[in-house]
Amino acid sequence: MGRIMGFWSRRKGVTDDIKETPDNCLNKYEEGKPVLPVEEPEKPTKKLKIPLNKTTSDVKYILKTIVFPCPICSEINTVDLSELDPIMGGETMCVHCQVVLHIPGGYLTHSEVPKLKVYAGLPVAVRKFPLFYWNHPVINDLEQQGITRIIIQYGLWGFCQRCHHQFSPAVLINLPHTSGEIVDYRSLSSEEMNEMKSLRAGCCPYCSHRILLVIISDVPHYVISASENLAHRWEED
Ligand SMILES: [Zn+2]
Ligand SMILES: [Zn+2]
Repeated sequence: MGRIMGFWSRRKGVTDDIKETPDNCLNKYEEGKPVLPVEEPEKPTKKLKIPLNKTTSDVKYILKTIVFPCPICSEINTVDLSELDPIMGGETMCVHCQVVLHIPGGYLTHSEVPKLKVYAGLPVAVRKFPLFYWNHPVINDLEQQGITRIIIQYGLWGFCQRCHHQFSPAVLINLPHTSGEIVDYRSLSSEEMNEMKSLRAGCCPYCSHRILLVIISDVPHYVISASENLAHRWEED
């Protein structure tokens, strides 16, 4: 924990199949109901109301650190700004209640600070993750802007609540809604494949715990621009 991930450390090939994930699985594959080729009468689909991550924007700068109350336990945490990546920010744990926290990189670069928030992980059952993800307002917003791919790089963090293993967003967003659904494993590494198999069965592959700590955060504009710039660079290669 506390480890800062490189923004572009993920294989870029991973993203290619992800946009193929049906974003309307919820209407098509409702748990326990037979799949019928029948048009749903009401559209657009009514999204479920889901719990959201707790956040704080009460962040103060003191020398080379930021100081803020934990969104869960309200105890004061301090993070050295040198631990943050300017784009990716960083993940750490509350020293008091051990919840996972995401801190945006804008706190280091002073970009968009008034809009930034520190996010705390939310417990979500492994089996409920697809429901949570596909009904999340941030994901719906990204869909409308046509930039859902960005979530592979930024905006989704998922950890086992017990052993704190961090799952790749590529695995999490491809988790099917039902056991019968076909998953395209080709875009996943062998480690990701094993993780996917275990998560499909509802538990962490390393400790069998059944609950994730999930953060889905707003994607700041500086992250979107960084992603667009790099996407252009890839096309030139
Ligand atoms: Zn705390
Ligand atoms: Zn675990």
